[in-house]
Amino acid sequence: MINIGDSQSLPPDYCCPKCHGDLAQETNFYFCRSCQKKYPVDFGIPDFRLEDDPYINIPDDHAKGARIVRECRDRSLVGLLEFYWSITENVEAGRAKQFVATVLRGRQRAEDIVKWLQQQKPEMARGSCLEIGCGAGEMLPVLRRIWTNVTGVDRAYRWLVIAKLAAEHQGMDIRLACANAEHLPFRSDTFDAVVADNVIEHQNDRPDQVAFARDALRAAKPRQGFFFLSTPNRFAPLPDPHFNIPLLGMLPRGSAKPMVQLIRGKVYEFIRLLSAPELNALLMEAGGGSVVMVPAQFGDEMFALKSVASAYRSLARKKTFLTVCPVIWALTTK
Ligand SMILES: [Zn+2]
Repeated sequence: MINIGDSQSLPPDYCCPKCHGDLAQETNFYFCRSCQKKYPVDFGIPDFRLEDDPYINIPDDHAKGARIVRECRDRSLVGLLEFYWSITENVEAGRAKQFVATVLRGRQRAEDIVKWLQQQKPEMARGSCLEIGCGAGEMLPVLRRIWTNVTGVDRAYRWLVIAKLAAEHQGMDIRLACANAEHLPFRSDTFDAVVADNVIEHQNDRPDQVAFARDALRAAKPRQGFFFLSTPNRFAPLPDPHFNIPLLGMLPRGSAKPMVQLIRGKVYEFIRLLSAPELNALLMEAGGGSVVMVPAQFGDEMFALKSVASAYRSLARKKTFLTVCPVIWALTTK
């Protein structure tokens, strides 16, 4: 493990993700005073994970992060992403370009989301924002324009290293922590805003999705604090966003797995798409008060053609479109 410049002092709102006990800070780790669990800090990023990343084990994840720090410290986000895909097995160059473009589109999505949130909540407090599943941190600079303190959490340490280097490159102060979304290392009632873009559909099953939403709401301040999430609509009559198979989400859940295996030769796992009614029920079960759901209010920049953008905009104003819109936005409080 490397340890370069951990300048963060103990943030008052961290707590043990396992038992919510108080943490003590040692040189290279946090330590739970209640359950004694240790959480390493590497490159200034605490690792509060209680479960492995399904794609990479924890030592390999840290080794990859260390390599990114060693070999491309001073690059911008694009340079960092290009390097990342170049050292990632089974990703050919063309596909890597697509991945970079996908990540960068996140910044535009953040602009659209923030614009809508400001319309929905003109009086919202602008003290603190948590992004769950921040990945390479592409949305964080946009959130940082609105909220004074921004924290990004992801279960992939290597992505957080990229987020940290990109933030440093922009001279931006953003706090990052590695954690599982359903076991957040924050005290209850901490954040004015909790945001999760394309995260809930990657929780393995419904109980995990409920646990994720419940913990996000726990971290949000009561009443004026809120939890916003964005997720692909299971019933959108389009190719599904992960395997590009038309109408995959319309199939009974049990049939999607063999279908993906048959058509793409890939394993359908860590994905559970939701419909609008399913998402609503899930958020209520997780303790959400009133839930506002709308078709994603994308701006023109998200579309290749102006005509498509204006057609989408007029559809997105209709309530019935929510049933079949490609992406659902939901906003809830506790
Ligand atoms: Zn503990």
